[in-house]
Formats: sequence, C-alpha cells, structure tokens
Amino acid sequence: MDTTALQPLQGLFLLFAFIFGLNVGSFCNVCIGRWPAGESVIKPRSRCPRCLNAIAWYDNIPLISWLVLGAKCRHCSKPISVVYPVVEALTGILFALTFWRFGFVIASPVYMLFCAAMIIVTFQDLADWTIPNEITFPGIPLGVILALAGTAWGEASGLRVTDVVDSLLGVLLGGGILLLLDRVTVYLLKKPGMGFGDVKLLAMIGAFLGWQGALGTLVIASFIGSFAGIAVIVYFKYVKKEAAAPAEKAETSEAAGDKADDEDEEITLEGHYLPFGPYLAVGALIFMFVGPELIDCYFSFLEPSGGIVLMNELTDIGF
Ligand SMILES: [Zn+2]
Repeated sequence: MDTTALQPLQGLFLLFAFIFGLNVGSFCNVCIGRWPAGESVIKPRSRCPRCLNAIAWYDNIPLISWLVLGAKCRHCSKPISVVYPVVEALTGILFALTFWRFGFVIASPVYMLFCAAMIIVTFQDLADWTIPNEITFPGIPLGVILALAGTAWGEASGLRVTDVVDSLLGVLLGGGILLLLDRVTVYLLKKPGMGFGDVKLLAMIGAFLGWQGALGTLVIASFIGSFAGIAVIVYFKYVKKEAAAPAEKAETSEAAGDKADDEDEEITLEGHYLPFGPYLAVGALIFMFVGPELIDCYFSFLEPSGGIVLMNELTDIGF
C-alpha cells in the first residue's frame, strides 16, 4: 500500500493510536480484574469493586474520569486504584509507539494486540500471581496463524510479523526451554519450578516473534530479572535493615535478636518474591520494538575484533 500521501497526517494518526490504546487499556483493566475470579468480561457493565454501583459512561472515560473524580468512586468515595489509569496510559503509549515504529501496515494492529496482551499478563501476574489462559491459549495458535498468513501473502502484504517456520520453532523453543527449566528445578533442586503460566507465555511469545524472539525475550527478561532481584536484596539487606535497627536494640537477649533477624530476612525475601511473567512480557515488548537492532548490536559487538584480526592476518600474508 502506498502511504506517502498519509505522511503529513502522521501526528494525527499517532494521536488516534494513543486514544485507541487508552480505550483498549480500559478493557485490559476489566480483564485483569475479572479473569482471576472467572467472571465474564462482557457482562455486567463496569461497576465499582467496593460498592458494586454501576459506573456511568462519563465516569468511565480513560485517564480523564480518574483525574476528574480525584481517584474516588462517585458513589462510595472509596479510592480508585492508580493501577487503572496506569494501565490505560501505558496501553495508549505502547499503541502510539507501535504505530510510530511500524507505520501503516497490517502488522501494526497485530503488534498492538500483542502489546495489550503483554499489559494484561504483566498486571494480572503482579496482582494475582497468575498468567491468564484466556491470553496464552488463543494466543499460541493465533500467532502461528498470523505468521502463516504473512508468509503466504508475502512481504508486500505488510503482515509479515515472523516466518511461519520461525513461529512454530518459537512455540517449541519458548515452551520447551521453560518446561525443561521447570522440570530441572523441581527434580534436582526440589524447589517449586517456573510455573506452567510462564511456559505457555513464552510459547505464545515465540508464536508471535519467532524462535529468535523467544530466545531474545528470555535473555532480556533474565537481565531485567537479575537487576530487579539484586535491587530487592540490596534494599532489604541494607535500606530496610537500617530502618529496623532501632527496634532491634529493644531486644534484651542477643540470641533472641539474632533469631528475629533471621526470620525477618526470610519473610521479607519470600514476601517480595517477584513473578517472572512481567519480565517475560517486558522482554517481549523490548524485542518487538528493537529486536533486530539488538541482534545487530550484539553481532557488531562480536565482529569488529574478529574482523580486525582477520584483516591483519590477510595483510601479513600479502593481501
Ligand atoms: Zn464505589
């Protein structure tokens, strides 16, 4: 499709994408709130989770209503979580970014759908420690079908998200790696493993982004996870400990103090266990936006030294 005539309207379309994203984000909130309880996301209409009063359309405008109402329900005046506008704003920003990055192609709405799925996964996993089957079960075949359609129609269709063979390998590799990791952890380390939600999630990511995407996502997620893990440990070992220090002095016996200390550490680290789903989702989004650049960057990081060594050898032997 020739889209050069539409270029002057780029800004307007970016705004449309953002507003569309805000509304999809609003629906994401409904999914995040209702799926863990096994409720329908279509009926009944939105209601306040505290007083159960139906929310009028004018109180349900993404971002704006939350601000106008001062983060309080119109009926019961109980606070409305900041998570709602955050999910809406993030979805809006990701939709605008998707349009900005991929432009007027059929792949753009596919990627937008993928962004919304990753938002739901992230926030449901943070709130409920579950990854919705409602996303991963249809997501795996959908990713493969889209890849098949894109491969069949060819590059010019603009749908070419990933090659269908890469997509199928992505499902096998994404699901396979985490399943293996899960089994190894359970049998050898006798610890609870990854969880099946993560297995299905990385399989779905592989379906959309190919085996390269599944692998890239896992690498990025592990990086972010390690940094976050270190940050959590540092925070509870040093920052929280200093804050807790005056209370410890009140302990009469040294032994009792030590015991309390140990228990405290165990509880804090356990209690602040972070699920892996959000890292995978963020990793997948990073790969979706800048995956090819990251891969180029990685190989150009490896190549120059190799290239220079080879060049020197060639000049040495007279080339
Ligand atoms: Zn209420």
